[in-house]
Amino acid sequence: MRRFALLCALFLAPLPLSAQDDPRSSRGDARPLYRDAAAIGALVAPLCDAIEKTGLPPKRDIPVKVVSREELVPVLHEELEPQFRAVIPGVTQQQLDQIVQISVQFYSSVLMCKYGFATKTIYVVPETFEAIAQVQPEVKVLDPEFFRAVFLHELVHACDDAGHDLGRQVAAVKTQEALQALNALVEGHAQAVTRQVLEAEGKSAWFAELEKVLTAEPAGVDPTMQYVLSILIAETQIYTDALRFFEAMGKRKPAPTFGELLANPPKSLDPILFPERYGRPDPEPLLAIDLALERFAQVARREGWTSTQASLSLLKIRSAFALLPRPEVDEVLRGVHAARNVALTPPMADGTQGLNALVIECAGAERGRGAYDLVARLLERKDEAMKTGVLHIASSAYDEPKVLGSDRALHSHKEVAVEGLPQPLVVHTLIVQRGAAVIELTSNGLDVEVDEMAGWAEEMLMVIDLPK
Ligand SMILES: [Zn+2]
Repeated sequence: MRRFALLCALFLAPLPLSAQDDPRSSRGDARPLYRDAAAIGALVAPLCDAIEKTGLPPKRDIPVKVVSREELVPVLHEELEPQFRAVIPGVTQQQLDQIVQISVQFYSSVLMCKYGFATKTIYVVPETFEAIAQVQPEVKVLDPEFFRAVFLHELVHACDDAGHDLGRQVAAVKTQEALQALNALVEGHAQAVTRQVLEAEGKSAWFAELEKVLTAEPAGVDPTMQYVLSILIAETQIYTDALRFFEAMGKRKPAPTFGELLANPPKSLDPILFPERYGRPDPEPLLAIDLALERFAQVARREGWTSTQASLSLLKIRSAFALLPRPEVDEVLRGVHAARNVALTPPMADGTQGLNALVIECAGAERGRGAYDLVARLLERKDEAMKTGVLHIASSAYDEPKVLGSDRALHSHKEVAVEGLPQPLVVHTLIVQRGAAVIELTSNGLDVEVDEMAGWAEEMLMVIDLPK
């Protein structure tokens, strides 16, 4: 299923959704700050003063409500439904209801605080603070200073909304990529101001505590689920990248203001991840990668199958490489021009059978070699990371087949055991590099041999240099 960015989905924590109430909350001591609406309301004025000192016009009359997760549901529903409707082309009401319901359930159980754009109100969800305290006991989540940091972040959203009518900006967004980029701008600015205020107060340590919750690895889950979750989390937790984007913008001369960035937002998350791309046109592929993917679809497609072509964002690729060291992955991604894939699926798809081709075009042959090495390492690293779990790699073997026209090639044959399936799934992967291009072909659960796959790669290499 596709996943969607949520505007101001503050603090997605890797929580077990069934996390129980913390016994500490019912001890009859003085009510903790995060449960005390009057005490929270009293924070607004001094925090607005602090925000004003950073140069941001404050918004002092903001209602605050302490709510249960259940009470947050209609608030999220009202905000998300129009966003999803606008960015999912051709969605039916039934599909929309389903997507909104799943998202609302998820977010209502992981948000500590939420600024509601429709109601111009800050909601505080005490249950979530207590649930995070259980799964991340090393973070001082129940400390009043931690709450203050989270609340400050929400106040920045409220001030930004008052100054720039963010609700209207979101309503005008037409694509999922643009929504993700706008979301990142909004979150990055909230984090930048929050950090500035806390630093000025000598409380940087609380900003670090906040970031620990934002970047937490999923804990206590099946190894396979951990891998899958780490991919999901990498896709939703853009706070750190968004903050670095603002740092990079601050070094530009002249430095663009938040208002100027909103007026000219990045079209996707790619410039958020790599700020040097902001304000530059997207690199156009030099090779005929679409032609190569079409060729693959022609030769590999089976009777009645459908083919779906898509562009891959840098965040998606980085998420897929979550098992490898981030700096090395980022270094390779910096040199990626374009990445596209085509998926071939049978008519009655259950996810176990299919063919996929991915082409990554890099800036030059040296970059291409770097990308190839990374893809090859990931292939091997997965054997280690997915040794056990509901979906695990039971066996794997590698060889280097001859692929005409390629600089190098690697093939893997793996048996993947899936809980509930009588037979392991056979997965073939062939990766090939020529110059700036890296091709990865994958076959899931099909009677395909390596020679046949090598033939498809050769067909693709034959057209990839043709004029477009
Ligand atoms: Zn936020």
